[in-house]
Amino acid sequence: MTQVSQVSEDQILNALKSVMDGDSDIVSKGMVQGLQVQDGHVVMAVVVPPSVGAKAEPIRKEAEKVVHGLDGVLSATVVLTAENEPGGHNHDHAGHDHSGHSHGAPAAEGPLLPGVKSIIAVASGKGGVGKSTTAVNLALALQSLGLKVGLLDADIYGPSQPRMLGISGEPQSSDGQTLDPMEGHGIKCMSMGFLVDEETPIIWRGPMVQTALVQMMRDINWGTLDVVVVDMPPGTGDVQLTMAQQVPLTGAVIVSTPQDMALLDARKGLNMFRQVDVPVLGIIENMSYFSCPHCGERSDIFSHGGAKKEAETVGMEFLGEIPLDMQIRETSDGGNPVVISDPDGAHAVAYKTIAKRIWEKTEAALQAKAASAPRILQ
Ligand code: ADP
Repeated sequence: MTQVSQVSEDQILNALKSVMDGDSDIVSKGMVQGLQVQDGHVVMAVVVPPSVGAKAEPIRKEAEKVVHGLDGVLSATVVLTAENEPGGHNHDHAGHDHSGHSHGAPAAEGPLLPGVKSIIAVASGKGGVGKSTTAVNLALALQSLGLKVGLLDADIYGPSQPRMLGISGEPQSSDGQTLDPMEGHGIKCMSMGFLVDEETPIIWRGPMVQTALVQMMRDINWGTLDVVVVDMPPGTGDVQLTMAQQVPLTGAVIVSTPQDMALLDARKGLNMFRQVDVPVLGIIENMSYFSCPHCGERSDIFSHGGAKKEAETVGMEFLGEIPLDMQIRETSDGGNPVVISDPDGAHAVAYKTIAKRIWEKTEAALQAKAASAPRILQ
């Protein structure tokens, strides 16, 4: 196969020398950081002092334009990050303040999702527990309550929401500036899958998170929504913590399976959100029991009820249980999740009951937030 001409880091840096900040260029000033190039896709950060913040937007735009104009560049994503010391690194996980979400780029850009009333993360201690399946069914169940809902698929390791919502194609821009989210079953959806190629090795994806996440919030026309459900990457490592910090979350829901001795992982999830002052709304036990497809008889799975017990131990609310059922798998994997394809069935009812409780708690969290006088950060 003939290769399209590959752009190199040096070429990019050379080109960026034309972008000036005051009397010197941004490369010489050491403002270009985290440059990554893969298959013609370029991501990087421009580091500015916090006091400059969003005022550096013209520099960001100019840098994006210059990179995009190079031969062999398919996409260029540049974000502004604020640091005290240009040239340093933003390893600020442990020392985050608790004043909201005032880190890096988001702080510099002002509110990230201005028309969105609330944001709920769906998280899990490890992969494969049905977090994405739960997220999409909850999003649809919230919609059935009459809410306007978005779904932000932030699972960099296995972005699956476009498939689960039956969405194909790529997001387009109707105003030539910001991308419109895709839509499936009435849910507005944006996915890491649209921004980070599935072929991109996982090791690359971690560092792309911040850039892609900011882009999914800042550069997308979400419009006015009651709630955005965020399908988080599984686990509780640095990547997840960064996300929990960067997205202004109203609350979080943890999904766990019963045989998850990794219920301990669920506890880690709880601690992670507590660390960043995000209320955990509760835990859902997925694949909780098994109903025989032939006789309908219910049998409990080994260690069924583990999530409930764990919830009681750590003072979390147990939101409900969802059975292991082929219909749940086939419908969501096939782009027609059970809440939409069998809206009056037992599974849909279970998701809707949980969604109702989640929305009650979300509204309470919003009220509590409004009641505690907001601190304006300058
Ligand atoms: P995660 O997001 O935690 O990695 P997924 O939601 O992608 O997990 O689920 C993994 C697989 O398990 C998918 O094929 C999904 O359809 C299936 N699955 C999830 N929940 C259930 C359930 N309650 N019953 C049957 N299959 C399920």
